[in-house]
Amino acid sequence: MRTSLKNAEVTVSDPTSPPGVRETVEAVIADVRSLGDEAVRAYSEKFDNWSPESFRLSQEQIDAAIARLPEQTVEDIKTVQRNVERFAQLQLQSLSEFEAEVEPGVILGQKNIPIDAVGAYVPGGRYPLLASAHMTIVTAKVAGVRRVAAATPAAGGVIPDASVAAMHFAGADEIYLLGGVQAVAALAVGTETIAPVDFLAGPGNAYVAEAKRQLFGEVGIDLFAGPTEVLIVADESADPFLVAVDLLSQAEHGPDSPAILVTTSKDLGQQVLKEIDSQLVGLSTRAVAEAAWRDHGQVILVDDLTEAYAVADEFASEHVQILTKNPREALDRMVNYGALFLGENTCVSFGDKVIGTNHVLPTRHAARYTGGLWVGKYIKTVTYQEVTTTTASAELGELLGRAARAENFEGHARSGDIRAARAAGQKPAW
Ligand code: NAD
Repeated sequence: MRTSLKNAEVTVSDPTSPPGVRETVEAVIADVRSLGDEAVRAYSEKFDNWSPESFRLSQEQIDAAIARLPEQTVEDIKTVQRNVERFAQLQLQSLSEFEAEVEPGVILGQKNIPIDAVGAYVPGGRYPLLASAHMTIVTAKVAGVRRVAAATPAAGGVIPDASVAAMHFAGADEIYLLGGVQAVAALAVGTETIAPVDFLAGPGNAYVAEAKRQLFGEVGIDLFAGPTEVLIVADESADPFLVAVDLLSQAEHGPDSPAILVTTSKDLGQQVLKEIDSQLVGLSTRAVAEAAWRDHGQVILVDDLTEAYAVADEFASEHVQILTKNPREALDRMVNYGALFLGENTCVSFGDKVIGTNHVLPTRHAARYTGGLWVGKYIKTVTYQEVTTTTASAELGELLGRAARAENFEGHARSGDIRAARAAGQKPAW
């Protein structure tokens, strides 16, 4: 039986849709669609206090930003990007193409074709999320995407040099200092100065995530990747200090980020509550992490690990960390998570920043039906077919004639009839 040691609300919270988000996003998209750059500039001025003549960075600006960086920073960006690239390459190998003769004379095949143009959103409202540049852009390039247009907010025109370097080294073909809904809309519908893309990728706040959702259909999107969530499953063997550190590491993403502990040990739960209070005191991001923990933090006590996995599956959290005696067990016991982090030597922040798996992950229950961003999201798996003999064509033609007429599709039926008739050296009856 589950009980709550913190926050009575045991059902999944939905903190990511503050009132008015949908309407705001609708209005911005409509204006960008009808007014183009003029609307983009006006909204960027309104939300980010930034409306330059051009939002696109020149090569000189990119080179200057990189030149200002310490060597170690450049080295670190490149190391992480190599890790992301290595994992994406491994994923690419798992994508198969095939061609098979399924019946004599009937050839069916599958091919993988990269999407042509992608918009990569790199969040930058609260923190400059360089890591999102690695995740979205490097992975797109491994997939074979020809054009990657990256966009990131620059409130007041200020952007860390490391963000520019990360987007550039990742392989961005265009870099726009433009954030929020206006960036996502401009990339999707196109403006006088920004060519439209076919697909939008990348995480973002509730506005960005809602914008992608509303634009889906007109362009493809990777997934619903909104405000970060973490859920830790822990038993009595877990270290409360470590659990608290790791919960706060995700709570600092934003005041709307849920951080949840599901534990079989009341003692552990109580110690973690104390630890969090004391660790918050010295945390430089305390204001954000404390708000997230106060409003969306939960500690849930369960009877056993079977119940813990069930609760975790119900949340379908973006990140799930397992701090138990046998963490690998979760691989077989859990089904709903964006990414799983096994054991105390691993942490969600490794996945966020350095280890190489993709950190663009499903939020708000989307882990029930999708995993995170991966190389396959940038690739269209398409099919082709060829019937090479008249005998096979005639057999399929007869089948088609009957199957299509069962649906009252006379035109379809005739496409089958004519093939059957030609094989027999005849003309169709109609
Ligand atoms: P952001 O770049 O997503 O959003 C900043 C932009 O939001 C601003 O440029 C502004 O234009 C717009 N904006 C802000 N307030 C607005 C308002 N009232 N109306 C309209 N537009 C407004 O950066 P952020 O805000 O720091 O959010 C980043 C988010 O990304 C966090 O919530 C973080 O948890 C999330 N994230 C998710 C994942 C994932 O995979 N799910 C990964 C990394 C980060």
